[in-house]
Amino acid sequence: MKRVPVADDILTWETGDPQLIGSRCKQCAIVTFPAQESCPRCASTEMAQHLLPRRGRLWAWTTQEFPPPPPYAGPTGDAFVPFGVGYVELGDEVRVEARLTQTEGLEIGMDMELEVVPFRTDDDGNEVVTFAFRPL
Ligand SMILES: [Zn+2]
Repeated sequence: MKRVPVADDILTWETGDPQLIGSRCKQCAIVTFPAQESCPRCASTEMAQHLLPRRGRLWAWTTQEFPPPPPYAGPTGDAFVPFGVGYVELGDEVRVEARLTQTEGLEIGMDMELEVVPFRTDDDGNEVVTFAFRPL
């Protein structure tokens, strides 16, 4: 089975430790995720690709009890399994909204690390993977 990422250009995952691909403004240094073509703070279009730290701290979380609205492409109906979702602060750089690997035992401020997790199987039988944070 082939593994494919859930979206292009959001994470490095084929070699070694995965990292999210964000962008950084060359004018004011703000970091965004996902990458943006213009800066949300100063409107500069000088944005450079910026790999985000793999570890951060849990800032807030909840449990997603029902399938998110489209364009959510994961399992629905009886196949849906509630999952954790939260914001993770990556250094001083950026706060990222992401799936969490678990819904129990989470605490604000705990250390989290990025990993690649299975998301669904596509029509071609490929394993589609996405990213999630797990407690260290
Ligand atoms: Zn800027």
